[in-house]
Amino acid sequence: MIYQRSSQLFAEAEKVIPGGVNSPVRAFKGVGGTPIFAKSAKGAYVYDEDDNRYIDYINSWGPMVLGHAFPPVVDAVVARAKSGTSFGMPTELETKIAELALSMVPNIDKIRFVNSGTEACMSAIRLARGYTKRDKIIKFAGCYHGHSDSFLIQAGSGASTFGTPNSPGVTQGTAKDTLLANYNDIENVTALFESNKGEIAAVIIEPVAGNMGCVPPKEGFLSSLRALCDAQDALLIFDEVMTGFRLAKGGAQELYGVKADLVCFGKVIGGGLPVGAFAGTHEIMNYLAPLGPVYQAGTLSGNPLAMAAGIAMLQSLNTTAGIFKSLEEKTAYLHRGIDKVLKENNIVFTINRVGSMISVHFDAEPVVDFATAKKGDNATFKQFFHGLLREGIYIAPSAYETWFITEALSYEDLDFTINAINKVAKTL
Ligand SMILES: *Cc1c(COP(=O)(O)O)cnc(C)c1O
Repeated sequence: MIYQRSSQLFAEAEKVIPGGVNSPVRAFKGVGGTPIFAKSAKGAYVYDEDDNRYIDYINSWGPMVLGHAFPPVVDAVVARAKSGTSFGMPTELETKIAELALSMVPNIDKIRFVNSGTEACMSAIRLARGYTKRDKIIKFAGCYHGHSDSFLIQAGSGASTFGTPNSPGVTQGTAKDTLLANYNDIENVTALFESNKGEIAAVIIEPVAGNMGCVPPKEGFLSSLRALCDAQDALLIFDEVMTGFRLAKGGAQELYGVKADLVCFGKVIGGGLPVGAFAGTHEIMNYLAPLGPVYQAGTLSGNPLAMAAGIAMLQSLNTTAGIFKSLEEKTAYLHRGIDKVLKENNIVFTINRVGSMISVHFDAEPVVDFATAKKGDNATFKQFFHGLLREGIYIAPSAYETWFITEALSYEDLDFTINAINKVAKTL
């Protein structure tokens, strides 16, 4: 493939944008080489500035679960734009998407919309602290909850790719209120509660981790966390920015039958526009301004274009029968195919999968937490990534990311991908 125009565009971008990108993991630092510039996308495919076509397994890092340029979303955005793009006044669309989201997700009574997953998690933590009148939070190593200060402690994916889990600029004062636990290790969490009695406001978790590859919760882990939080009067926050509206209509809460006190959303909920949201019971959500004392705001929050896109997306997911089953079946098919060809080529690997989240780790050991995720062979991953790129398959340029499967993939696309992996495996 020729990447001439992408290389030129990147050189120009580097002069005016730090690292040439507006979000670090796009820069290919984890895999080497220079990023590919996107020109357009449709369905399961993305086209770059040199007119190369790729089967896309990033899908804007999750939102495009029904494919790129999904007509109902595009039509809704175009139609809305003609009536004005932002008002700073409430619109009917905000109530509509709130009603829709609340009807799909269990255990939530009220929802507030923001502009990113980062904002959703950051606001949920402030609300949890204000509501419980406690300062400390527990997060898990390898879980990512956006780039706000409290969370940049062993944050997985982007942060891990660069080996700078603790960013300069995050003060000691902030860091001391974030306690770190090992994913899937309930004893570890119990011990943290014991040594910080009455001080922990909330436990925040990706109920299926997706920012250290895909790491499922062990049987009973989420329900044990629920029981522990109840016993300690702490809130349980599910960060469903990745899993929400992907694993099931009601996300991981529905899939695992565990109730969270606060739930964070992003990615799919905005249909590809910048949207995040956080939700909970009346009692907790009424603690937010203007009803309650916890302040949270946003000039562009509930933006009409973003809400129109989100409504079109959620409506499609809500009314397409069997959509989540179909996504799961496609991913399971890919899982079986990759498993077969990697075995045939004597590659050492582990595949993790939950529904339409899947990751390939170049290590024989089970990947159950951040420590085991980090054991994967990064040199092999880099070769794998660039090999697939040459075959026209675009996966995330980081060994710490789940693949984001889209319903737009056909079984022919999946077979093409499996064949490409077979070819690349012979070179590893
Ligand atoms: C992507 C992600 C975020 C951050 O969302 P942004 O929209 O990038 O700010 C937070 N939590 C999880 C689990 C995510 O995957």
